[in-house]
Amino acid sequence: MAILDRALVRLLPAVPRTVVRRIADRYIAGEELGDAVETVARLNAGGKTATIDVLGEEVGRREEVQEITRAYLDAIEAISERGLDSNVSIKPTGLGLLLGYDVARENLEAVVRRAAEVGNFVRIDMEDASTTEDTLRIYRELREAGLDNVGVVLQARLRRTLDDIEALAELRPNIRICKGIYLEPEEIAFTGFEEIRLNYVRCLEALDSAASFVGVATHDEFLVSEAKRVMQEPYEFQMLLGVREPLGDQLVRDGARLRIYVPYGRQWYEYSLRRLQENPRIAGYVATDTLGRVLGRNGSA
Ligand SMILES: Cc1cc2nc3c(=O)[nH]c(=O)nc-3n(C[C@H](O)[C@H](O)[C@H](O)COP(=O)(O)OP(=O)(O)OC[C@H]3O[C@@H](n4cnc5c(N)ncnc54)[C@H](O)[C@@H]3O)c2cc1C
Repeated sequence: MAILDRALVRLLPAVPRTVVRRIADRYIAGEELGDAVETVARLNAGGKTATIDVLGEEVGRREEVQEITRAYLDAIEAISERGLDSNVSIKPTGLGLLLGYDVARENLEAVVRRAAEVGNFVRIDMEDASTTEDTLRIYRELREAGLDNVGVVLQARLRRTLDDIEALAELRPNIRICKGIYLEPEEIAFTGFEEIRLNYVRCLEALDSAASFVGVATHDEFLVSEAKRVMQEPYEFQMLLGVREPLGDQLVRDGARLRIYVPYGRQWYEYSLRRLQENPRIAGYVATDTLGRVLGRNGSA
């Protein structure tokens, strides 16, 4: 990343929310379920499947947790009614993990059970390392309760991940593997770019025999080609809405399965910041937006 981009990443929290919103627009379907439904329909028409994420994380208010849980149940209904090819992705802290393990477990179970009734699937996202144990425990308990329409995420950044793959293998899990967005300390995580990549490849190799299905979540061309080399069917690629679309289009043209992560909702700020911090051209986007406003245009970077 260029020096200017790195400097801007550090300053991003100081950038006004209205500017963040405009330049992060490409990463978010909109604020309402209808926006997500339209985006998924468009993706499906282009040969891509989707996973809908209701934005909201680290929620500490019970009413808000209930709202997010309800929003997931509504999303599952809408997917069914519209005959869309999409599942949902859920952050445990959006469904109450900060209020207690049992709160998140109960809400997740309600959503997974409803999804099972209509033949859909729920992916449990993985958040920062303080939540890894609880998230894997919820996943295991749901599977042990007989729910098979649920999968979880593992992060190649974490040193523990190969052990987690081995421990989960008896469940023949459905796993999304990603690098991991949360920066974790050296003691528990690989921190170098190449180290993380290398562990990602090791995880792919381990998952190929341990998992029943693998979602290879990455926009890194090296890992895309490593996955093609290592993985036997069944697996799919997964990418984030608005990120490296030409690479995704190429994968679909080549006949690969591709699922797009489609976030929507009013709690867009934290998610947007993370996406902008990962964008290698962030300075360019902010500059174009700012210049656009100075020149009286809409800043459509
Ligand atoms: C479907 C999906 C689900 C995910 N779920 C989780 C999860 O549950 N938990 C978790 O911790 N992380 C999750 N992630 C995030 C993931 O861990 C990485 O942080 C993120 O995908 C970037 O890693 P990368 O493999 O794409 O490699 P990178 O090296 O970060 O990116 C490869 C290239 O993609 C481009 N790129 C990447 N991001 C952007 C961007 N925002 N804007 C423009 N270009 C960009 C750049 O050109 C970059 O060089 C998910 C990612 C995806 C795709």
